[in-house]
Amino acid sequence: MKLIDKLSQSKKTLFSIEILPPLKGKSIQSIYDGIDPLMEFKPAFVDVTYHREEYIYKKREGGYLEKVSIRKRPGTVGICAAIMNKYDVEAVPHIICGGFTREETENALIDLQFLGIDNVLALRGDSIKTEPHFVPEPGGHHYALDLVKQVVEMNNGNYLDEEMKDAAPTNFCIGIAGYPEKHFEAPNMNSDMKWLKAKVDAGAEYIVTQMFFDNQKYFEFVKLCKDSGINVPIIPGLKILSTKAQIKTLPKIFKIDIPHDFYEALEKCKEDKEVKEVGIKWCIEQCKELVKANAPCLHFYTMGASESTRKVAKEIF
Ligand code: FAD
Repeated sequence: MKLIDKLSQSKKTLFSIEILPPLKGKSIQSIYDGIDPLMEFKPAFVDVTYHREEYIYKKREGGYLEKVSIRKRPGTVGICAAIMNKYDVEAVPHIICGGFTREETENALIDLQFLGIDNVLALRGDSIKTEPHFVPEPGGHHYALDLVKQVVEMNNGNYLDEEMKDAAPTNFCIGIAGYPEKHFEAPNMNSDMKWLKAKVDAGAEYIVTQMFFDNQKYFEFVKLCKDSGINVPIIPGLKILSTKAQIKTLPKIFKIDIPHDFYEALEKCKEDKEVKEVGIKWCIEQCKELVKANAPCLHFYTMGASESTRKVAKEIF
């Protein structure tokens, strides 16, 4: 089922989660172990992230260094199929521009259609860790906007492969990312909004936001979207902060702020057990306010922390 239909049919705030494919070598059971404790809250969908290759240098005999491409978390498409097979839930694969030519994207989308997957979250993807900026694959897309356009073309039955003239159109519901605290590369919020609107005008049907800890930022973002003529559901992304180290790593990685009150409370914690409690409490308050404001769905970046997500969900759903 298309997420946009679920979102528009629901009269109450829905619950959803994002999971990461397990590290190479781990089994699918680690995914099920993360989802099982959350199924009682009836997630509307489970997002599965996509992780592109990284480059490392391996020391070879004779001392020379060989540049080797590795993927630590493969399997997004297969994991989505496994989730849909095991649970009564929509799995949403993240599809990215990075590392894909347009033809490879087309083939990946055909695979998803064969598997009965109706929803995709279309993203540009981050740069490879060893590169300072995002570099598109030769013959690939530079921006998520172009990826959205390609999916829409396929939904209209227009494939790149000219041999496929009479092929059946795909029928994907397309989600995209939005940034209440601005995407870090955007020179200002107005230009970020301009490109966000371009993605919606091209056919994206809903937005999932980057994580935030200050609801005010989400409310302002929603208002800015409305003022800019963006009228699709905007799903808030939530993360339960759970270690002291994350006070520094989350702002650095995701370019977001930790509100001062929250920071003060976290600073007082002596160990991570206390941080987790403070993080859960903060998230519960965020959720209560977001539900009150009729957020369409609360989307949790679980990052393996099902136990904390369960504690929050128990208070809200
Ligand atoms: P875009 O929409 O392409 O925007 C990137 C930047 O370019 C922005 O600053 C924007 O303002 C600007 N811009 C956009 N279009 C144009 C244009 N046509 N011309 C000029 N400027 C333009 N990364 C992964 O690798 N895998 C994942 O699974 C993943 N999941 C995510 C899920 C969510 C909900 C979010 C919020 C992020 C996720 N990311 C993931 C990270 C994401 O890929 C990065 O934040 C990336 O840097 C930007 O992706 P985007 O789709 O927002 O890019």
